[in-house]
Amino acid sequence: MNTIPSETKITIIYIFFAYTFSVLMRLIWVYHFNGYAPFYFNDQFMINTNDGYLWAEGARDLLHGSGVNPDAKEYLDRFHQLHDLSPVGTAASQLTAFFAKILPFSFESVIFYMPAFLSSLVVVPIVLISKSFKNLEAGFIAALLASIAWSYYNRTMAGYYDTDMLNIVLPMFLLWSIMWAIQTQKDVYLLLSALDILVYRWWYPQSYSLEFAFFGLILIYALIYDRKNSFNYKLLAIMMFAMMQTYMLVRLSSVLVVFYIFKQKKFDKYIYYILSVSIIAFFITGGFAPIWNQLKGYVFRESVDATNKGLGLHFFTVMQTVREAGKIPFETFANRISGSVIVFFISCIGYIYLLFKKRIMFLSLPLVGLGFLAYVGGLRFTIYAVPILALGIGFLISELSSNISNLKIRYPSMIILTLAILYPNYKHIDAYKVPTVFSKQEVMVLDKLKHIAQREDYVVSWWDFGYPIRYYTDVKTLADGGKHSGSVDFPLSYILTNPQQEAAKMARLDVEYTEKNFRFKDSHKKEIKDKNFTIFSNIEQMTKDYGFNDTNDFLLNLKTKIKLPKKTRDIYFYLPFRMMGIFPTVARFSNIDLMSGNTIRRPFFYQTNRFKEKNNILYLGSGIAFYQKKGILKIGNQKVLAKSFYVTYYEKNGKLIRKKQLLHQKGDISIIYMRSYRTFLLLDQNMLNSLYIQLFVFDNYDKKLFKPIILTPSAKIYKLLI
Ligand code: MN
Repeated sequence: MNTIPSETKITIIYIFFAYTFSVLMRLIWVYHFNGYAPFYFNDQFMINTNDGYLWAEGARDLLHGSGVNPDAKEYLDRFHQLHDLSPVGTAASQLTAFFAKILPFSFESVIFYMPAFLSSLVVVPIVLISKSFKNLEAGFIAALLASIAWSYYNRTMAGYYDTDMLNIVLPMFLLWSIMWAIQTQKDVYLLLSALDILVYRWWYPQSYSLEFAFFGLILIYALIYDRKNSFNYKLLAIMMFAMMQTYMLVRLSSVLVVFYIFKQKKFDKYIYYILSVSIIAFFITGGFAPIWNQLKGYVFRESVDATNKGLGLHFFTVMQTVREAGKIPFETFANRISGSVIVFFISCIGYIYLLFKKRIMFLSLPLVGLGFLAYVGGLRFTIYAVPILALGIGFLISELSSNISNLKIRYPSMIILTLAILYPNYKHIDAYKVPTVFSKQEVMVLDKLKHIAQREDYVVSWWDFGYPIRYYTDVKTLADGGKHSGSVDFPLSYILTNPQQEAAKMARLDVEYTEKNFRFKDSHKKEIKDKNFTIFSNIEQMTKDYGFNDTNDFLLNLKTKIKLPKKTRDIYFYLPFRMMGIFPTVARFSNIDLMSGNTIRRPFFYQTNRFKEKNNILYLGSGIAFYQKKGILKIGNQKVLAKSFYVTYYEKNGKLIRKKQLLHQKGDISIIYMRSYRTFLLLDQNMLNSLYIQLFVFDNYDKKLFKPIILTPSAKIYKLLI
């Protein structure tokens, strides 16, 4: 009997151990917050990434509709609504619905734990790749490190329910299969590589750049080192067919047909023709177009904006508010890839050494390249470099240790070095206590609204809350994490920051115009495509429909009695306390003259919960003080008369009490003390009169326009009456 376990056995043991380790590390967060009620809904933790609610909505709708005959009358009703933006066609939603259907766990449990279990699969290709250079220990160490490395953990932890959970797993499997294809020259890896591309593209449609980069490297390798070997061209051809820009079924059948042909030796002489056909098919179907567009974006910095037709309105763009788009500090970059700067440097050395020793590893360059793009292009890319650099340091550790001939020293030193590189990442996980997206109180409001609102109704709120609103309430929204251009945000910002009269009218207008636009696009699909037909923003169409050429005139006109479009559905407003912190940002989107692009007024709004009182002076932080006796505000070096002082608080029975004290008639800035929230607000007259402040802070609504539906301290729902 052979007492030494076979290589396959060791591989399986390493994979099993690394996978379990990865999952367990993701339960640290669960352990920290076990039983913490504000994070629970339906007896399960809520997710901690906003975008996840999009996939959850799609999966929920798929489950709703499953089992219903598509021809039946109630099909659409059970399934989802026309133009509700539910992503039922996306892979993330489909896979989730599948798991929720076959597993005996609640839907909330499935979406919460899916990232932990799927992302941990990354250990499989890592160990398998190390097998190709006959150093399983390197792969095992790398799998342990990569699965919990800082940025990979952040984007795949329990509750981080987003496409990231497979975004590294799938390209790593692809890397493994092309490496093994080239090394073993076995046909089965041709098929695996092509199938992996199909799955990867299904899961993440933007995957084309990485696939194309792999294709390019294999081509270069084949031309330089192995020109006569037809196997390389088979690999390239089958990859090309899988990468075409057309229906999944067409690509799958092409792949299977080509694979069948490749299995027959007699067709080998046609390989160059087949490769040519595949490349032509790739270009004809437009496979290169998205890559070219992306390159154009990087190289020429071409902006997608600006149509000179129509009124040429100038909208505020979300990019203007995203400051982090710039460069990130080197330390952050290194930490996110390897957990610490030292480990990062040693990993880089190890990776270079690995490239030098094992030439096949050059195929991993696209992943490292994409990861390093993070240094200029934004944090989210770092995860691509994680597993490859982990292989670098894993290789270094196992190579160095193998020089130690005394086994009693070799293995302990390997273990110590491994623990040393894991430690900073463990420390990070232990300290990374991110909250759930919403609190239980907020979700309970939305859940209650679900039983009041119809699925065709709209809930108006800022775009940040779009996905969660749609998931918990199953209604329609005007904006969400994927639909928030300047022209979409303008009316929302206008509604939230303007007086109730104008806000109410704009809400009705924007909802009806949004639906009208959907219907128009549906019935004029051909014209829009053929004639390069431009559909203008809602606000531009309103301006024209009401007979104006200047949007400012139209907006002024909202103060008067105007005829509103026919009401087709109900509209609700979701106003959470959570919006207070971003209210200045919300205001910026409508604080712009659409005709000229200039800023109109600088709204004054300041919120703080750090304050103290001394000798009748209230210190509010940021150099702001309020002299209570004189009613004077000192802001920096400037002294201004305060207008009014308000106090709001909740009584034990839940009743909101409001008190007002007029200080100076001529003043502009008022002070609000929201006692129950331990929060002070300083704001000018415009902000004070805004819909959000009046309806959320004071419950002071115009009875002809709004009806309160649910009023809680954390979020309030009003219904529009016009
Ligand atoms: Mn719906």
